[in-house]
Parts: sequence; structure tokens; C-alpha cells
Amino acid sequence: MEKRSAPLWNDAWPVDLEQRLEGILAPAAANAVEIFFRADDIGAPDAGFRRLMHLFRRHRMPLCLAVVPAWIDRKRWRQMQEFTVHDPLWCWHQHGLCHANHQESGRKSEFGSHRSCETIRSDLVRGREHLQAILGPAFFPVFTPPWNRCSLETLQILAREGYAAVSRTVNARPAATSLIPDLAVAVDLHTRKEQDPALGWQNLLDELACAADSGRIGIMIHHQLMNDRCFAFLDLFLALCRGQAGLCPGTFRDLLSPVS
Ligand SMILES: [Zn+2]
Repeated sequence: MEKRSAPLWNDAWPVDLEQRLEGILAPAAANAVEIFFRADDIGAPDAGFRRLMHLFRRHRMPLCLAVVPAWIDRKRWRQMQEFTVHDPLWCWHQHGLCHANHQESGRKSEFGSHRSCETIRSDLVRGREHLQAILGPAFFPVFTPPWNRCSLETLQILAREGYAAVSRTVNARPAATSLIPDLAVAVDLHTRKEQDPALGWQNLLDELACAADSGRIGIMIHHQLMNDRCFAFLDLFLALCRGQAGLCPGTFRDLLSPVS
């Protein structure tokens, strides 16, 4: 089945969108709010991926890239070299192992409660070693679990295995607080479920405003689901972000080692 953009991206966006975005970003900039973007399901250097990379590079905006270990090999990594993979704009990190669901029932998860600690640990390490072997020093040890969820055991193993952070959605459970930093995303651009585009926009802008109030705006991207309007929106949004001098764009690397 062909993947489709969420309904809000198949309709004209609100006429006052730019003003509303500025209304959120200007106060955020005044308060030196951090902002980061996380692109999931990275592996194939296809047209959508390349278009996304060109867009972020053109705006000189940082992007955290969640790479599925099973989807990347030396040939594909070589093809990605045109984007200067060691540029500090990029933060290549781990997105699961195969992006496979292992839950027997309930919500999807690759590292959920239906697996033993040993299989979780071995899949995590296998994925990381594969990425380290292919990406070399461009790899940064943050873990984004597929579907933004993982078990408590997974969080404990990540901490024990020396990962710098996990990245899920804001308020994900179980909480990671005492174990490992959670560089959570708060805004979902492309996997939204609202069937009514107007409601989709309202919720998206609410998520953005709420994240800005919290002091950190994390934005999740799925390039396979992006149509022309999604790219046009990001183009506009990145330009607005760049125009707000006080806003602090960064990667996971930057968020974990803030400049004093
Ligand atoms: Zn994913």
C-alpha cells in the first residue's frame, strides 16, 4: 500500500499560518528556546531523503537522522557522502535494528515488553556495532526506538551500554528520567491521525506552542510521507526559525553539551 501524507497536507494550509508560526517562534526566541529536528526511518538515499537533506543544508539547520541499521550498507552510506556526512549539522544515530514489530498484541514496538532482556540487549548492540562499522565517527550513540516506544528493560540496557540518550515522544512511558536523558520530540509533522485538516492544523500549532513554552521544541519528520506541501511548509518554517536570532537550533550532540 502506498504511504500517504496526513490529511492536513492534502489541503491548503491556514491563510494566517505564517503569522501564527511567528507568534510562537518570536517569544520562543526571546526566551532562548532550543529547537531540534529528528528525521526517522533513514536508510535508503532515495529522492525524498535527498530532498530533505538539501533543504536542511540550504537553511544551515541541524538535523538528527535516525538510521535503521538493517537498512544501511556501505554502498548506501557512500551515496550519502554528497551531503558531507561529518558536517556538524547532522547527527546520525540509531533507530532500532530492523524496524520490526515484536509485540504479540497491542501497540507496535521493536523493543517492547514481549521480549527477553537478552534479545533486546543483543539487538541493540548488533545495531550499534553495525552503524559504528559503516558510519564510523559520524555515528552518535543516541537511540530512537521505532514507534517511539520501548520497555523499561530497554531503557536500563541503554544506560548500561553507555548510550548518551534515548529519543521518544514527550511524556512517553515508562519515564526515562533517572536512567538516561530523553531528548523527546513534541511535534509530529507527518504521521498525524486527524481526518479533519483544520483540526490537524490546530493540534499541530498547539503542540508547537506547548513545546515552545517548555523551553525545547523537538520536531519529528518522516520523509517517506512528505508531499510537495510538506516540503514547502518545512522550507517556510526553517526560514522563520533562521530569522529568529534568539532561537537555539541544535542536534542531540549540542543538546547534551550545551555551551555555557
Ligand atoms: Zn520509524
